[in-house]
Amino acid sequence: MSHVKLYIPGPVEVSPATFAAMAQPMMGHRGKGFQDLYAEIQPKLQELFGTKQQVFLSTSSAWGVMEGSIRNLVKKKVLNCCNGAFSDKWLDVSKRCGKEAEAYQVEWGQPIMADEIDKRLATGEFDAVTFIHNETSTGVLSPIAEIAALKKKYPDVMFITDSVSGFTTVPLNFDELGIDVLLTGSQKAFALPPGLALFTASEAAMKRAETINDRGYYFDFIEFRANGEKSMTPSTPCISLIYGLRHQLNAMFTEGLDNRYARHARLNGMVHDWVKKNGFEFFAPEGYRSKSLTCVANNKGIDVAAFIGLLKKNHSLIIDGGYGKLKGKTFRISNMGDETDASIGAVIAALDDSLSQL
Ligand SMILES: *Cc1c(COP(=O)(O)O)cnc(C)c1O
Repeated sequence: MSHVKLYIPGPVEVSPATFAAMAQPMMGHRGKGFQDLYAEIQPKLQELFGTKQQVFLSTSSAWGVMEGSIRNLVKKKVLNCCNGAFSDKWLDVSKRCGKEAEAYQVEWGQPIMADEIDKRLATGEFDAVTFIHNETSTGVLSPIAEIAALKKKYPDVMFITDSVSGFTTVPLNFDELGIDVLLTGSQKAFALPPGLALFTASEAAMKRAETINDRGYYFDFIEFRANGEKSMTPSTPCISLIYGLRHQLNAMFTEGLDNRYARHARLNGMVHDWVKKNGFEFFAPEGYRSKSLTCVANNKGIDVAAFIGLLKKNHSLIIDGGYGKLKGKTFRISNMGDETDASIGAVIAALDDSLSQL
């Protein structure tokens, strides 16, 4: 299948093997065939998330569960940690759900810091906090362990974490972190087509949800739990994607999770070396740079649109030209999913060639 290969930070390339695994006959989602599929992948998902809790499958993109977390868990007021396009949007979504919401706003490109969250939670105003582990728009990886450690100090606050573009590229252990929700989506590091979100929730989160009346139906955590106990989903799931998920989970555990994390670190390092070698700078500060994508600051003032045009025309691949207000000021290269030393090597050769032709 000749096509333009995706090195944008989602959706990413889906392999022919994954597509083949998805091409299975349909089946009823209330029968044994589906329950067997669900039950087969559940222990792998629990190991991947590092949890004894159920891992839920939502037929939606990640935003469904991001909005659902607000509807299920916020009673009093939510603190939305904002440091980029996705996290800023979560504040807007909280308000659109009719919730009291306040931003802890950080300049785009900077990380979210635990001590700043601590100061705000100390007011006692908040019963939930949202936080994006890997802010895809800016390539910033925030210190999740330090932030999650605050949960001990504020046990009644719900800690809701989006790791849509970070999950499976760096280790994350839900039970060890002690947070309340960890959510992700299929079209980023899982290298599946879009349309499936995955999440897990703490017992405390379920207890909170039980006390909230306007949870709605489609993203009701209590419905997910009740159906999950029977190896089912509340509504008709994206069965094809779940076949693809089974394939990708098998691939992850065949590779080994530690090998997978090491591979992402290595491929990300290859892109970082290209950035340094060519006199570009990183948009994120040292120590807070994403391992799944690289957000390059266009300090050299190249014509980013022309650069991407050359990559597409001569090398049949695309990278991203900067998110929203960062368009042209940055560009982003993904190393998520099934990429290898050889495939990222080819991207780097293409970057070199296209840069030389500008
Ligand atoms: C892609 C992304 C989302 C949104 O995912 P959708 O699949 O578009 O709903 C949310 N958060 C982060 C960090 C993302 O990278």
